[in-house]
Amino acid sequence: MGRRFCVRCGVEEDENTPIIDGLCPKHFVEERRIVSFPSKITIVVCPSCGSVLVGNDWLPTDGSIAKALEIYINKALVKRSSIYPGFTDVEVNVDKVVSDKAFYRVKGRYGKHVLEQDGTLLFEVKHKLCPICSSIRNESYEATVQIRSEGPPRYEVFRRIADRVTELKEFSNVVKIEESHDGVDLRVRDPSSARLIASVLKKEFSAHVKQTWKDYGYLGGKKHGKLTISARVPGLLPGDVVVFDEDLYTVVGLSRKGIIFLRRLSDGRMLSVKRDELWSKGFQVLTGKDYAIVEGRLLNYEGGKAVVQAVDSGNIYYVSSPKILDLGSRVKILIYKGIPYLLI
Ligand SMILES: [Zn+2]
Ligand SMILES: [Zn+2]
Repeated sequence: MGRRFCVRCGVEEDENTPIIDGLCPKHFVEERRIVSFPSKITIVVCPSCGSVLVGNDWLPTDGSIAKALEIYINKALVKRSSIYPGFTDVEVNVDKVVSDKAFYRVKGRYGKHVLEQDGTLLFEVKHKLCPICSSIRNESYEATVQIRSEGPPRYEVFRRIADRVTELKEFSNVVKIEESHDGVDLRVRDPSSARLIASVLKKEFSAHVKQTWKDYGYLGGKKHGKLTISARVPGLLPGDVVVFDEDLYTVVGLSRKGIIFLRRLSDGRMLSVKRDELWSKGFQVLTGKDYAIVEGRLLNYEGGKAVVQAVDSGNIYYVSSPKILDLGSRVKILIYKGIPYLLI
């Protein structure tokens, strides 16, 4: 029986030269295709993350069109019906893309021989957001402002903050407000609006502000990450009663520069404290459960103390008085740990 040979060049089959349907490898790759593709293909790519749609699956890429094509071709187009009979382990590498033309190299095994073939194909790219990117896009926030308060969260504090934040023009970039047991999260479309809101919280509510990036990285050549700004407010509002430095104070005001104005209840002395100092020394906000407020009438002054009679109980209190008031005046006294203070 005669050996098989190439009908084009006459080379005979041997160890290193298979004859495939009458052709040597050189003439096979010139005249036939290891794998045949349509003359033009269309791929669907996510413009945000670069993943490519194959069937119903979105497969990740390195963000390049060449990679998207390569994945699509290998997963969707290299199949039994498109591979030349007798070939196995067919793999396509897309080397480069010029305009709408892809240059690729096919490797395929024929028996124990590996053949390579270059080719080009035309392609078109359609863009569509993948489900993950489209869900991110719908929520469309890149930053979160976490508003928390020192001490137990207080409804009045958050309401006051909410009233202020809704006045800001940046509030239009707040896409979602989530309340949790310990505060409020504002989901903000862009980091710069979030930073501005945080700076207002810092200036006007004496918030302690800290920024962190989460999930920071590059995906499909685009920067992905979420900015989280934690804003801890002192949980103080004018009128609050606080224990600070072992004394009892009422909060008179919060300044835009992080200064908290306090009035000492025992002698009416005014004190301005920096936010940081308040934090470092520690303070306690008292609630209505910690103290009692009693309505009374000023009867007299005795030994430098005001004599106040409670309207309801008729009890008499001797109270340090920072200020001389007319006898008979209606006054309020605050009783904390058994000690009465005159509220003026
Ligand atoms: Zn030949
Ligand atoms: Zn995507």
